Amino acid sequence: MKVTLDTTKRIFSGIQPTGEPHLGNYIGAIRRWVDLQHDYESFFCLVDLHAMTLPWDPKRLRTDTLNMGAMLVACGIDPDRSVLFRQSQVGQHAELAWTLNCVARMGELRRMVQFKEKSRGDTESVGVGLFTYPVLQAADVLLYQAHGVPVGEDQRQHVELMRDLGIRFNKTFGRTFVVPEPLVSSNGARIMALDDPTRKMSKSATRPNSSISLADAPDAIAKKIKSAVTDSGREVTSGEDKPALTNLLTIFSSMQGTPLEELEATYKESGYATFKQALADAVVEHLGPIKKRYEDLIGDPAELERLLDAGALRAYEIAERTMVDVRERVGLGHRP
Ligand code: ATP
Ligand code: MG
Repeated sequence: MKVTLDTTKRIFSGIQPTGEPHLGNYIGAIRRWVDLQHDYESFFCLVDLHAMTLPWDPKRLRTDTLNMGAMLVACGIDPDRSVLFRQSQVGQHAELAWTLNCVARMGELRRMVQFKEKSRGDTESVGVGLFTYPVLQAADVLLYQAHGVPVGEDQRQHVELMRDLGIRFNKTFGRTFVVPEPLVSSNGARIMALDDPTRKMSKSATRPNSSISLADAPDAIAKKIKSAVTDSGREVTSGEDKPALTNLLTIFSSMQGTPLEELEATYKESGYATFKQALADAVVEHLGPIKKRYEDLIGDPAELERLLDAGALRAYEIAERTMVDVRERVGLGHRP
């Protein structure tokens, strides 16, 4: 990838190596990245520093990060076209996060819904990193002067915060950052848990039947879809009063590329069992080639390390350009 000065064509997005990526990550984020990389200068980051905001196992963190890198490549992220890298290998992320911590306000971080959800009300004993999580996320994006941030609906509030921090910094210290825009798709931006359509599908959820992992075996996929909750009634239709079926239809539509209305027309009277079987077949068919490529890639961890090292070197160069300005503007020392 050639770096241009036209940053309106630049996007940044990240994913936490907190476990196996699921259909929500794929439909809401990864799949869109694969398309966007053809039109934008793209930075895709394995945000391992973010994965440390809840208790973690160091060995797992390292392998989960490599595996997540492999999965992104298996899904179609092209490491020659996009900059695919590991956050911890570019020290500027942590460095800028500190400066932005000194710009952000307690009150605005307290309003973050993800913090409330992930701390589950136990705000005294969770790590401070979970509280300042969105500040590190702001640093991730602002470092690269990215205009677009393709994320799922759950991250919209964090993108608002990064905009506020960018604007405040620019006003206080002089124009330094491009103020980014969220790129949230109009459908599939919030895939819900299979066992509870009031909660989003999440990597960190511990409920075994809540999400379909991209690396799940076909029989596991079928089993999970079979056990997915449905709504009252008999017809397969979407609607506000049908959150579970709407979610399953959205997944189906995305896997098969068939409009939701067409699926409703086909399966309306078919009964839940037939509909679920057809959905399971569509998911297995779509994920099959991804799983195969993933398994090939994780067989060679040394090659994955090399690939991520190369990405980090490219990211480092851009990140350092921004940090030279930031250090100068805020009165910090330059690199000796
Ligand atoms: P965790 O539970 O560890 O926070 P996660 O599943 O929320 O994991 P993230 O790594 O936080 O995944 O997010 C990666 C990307 O996936 C983000 O762009 C996020 O908006 C998107 N995303 C996460 N969950 C969903 C979902 N259920 N539906 C659509 N997009 C999602
Ligand atoms: Mg998340």
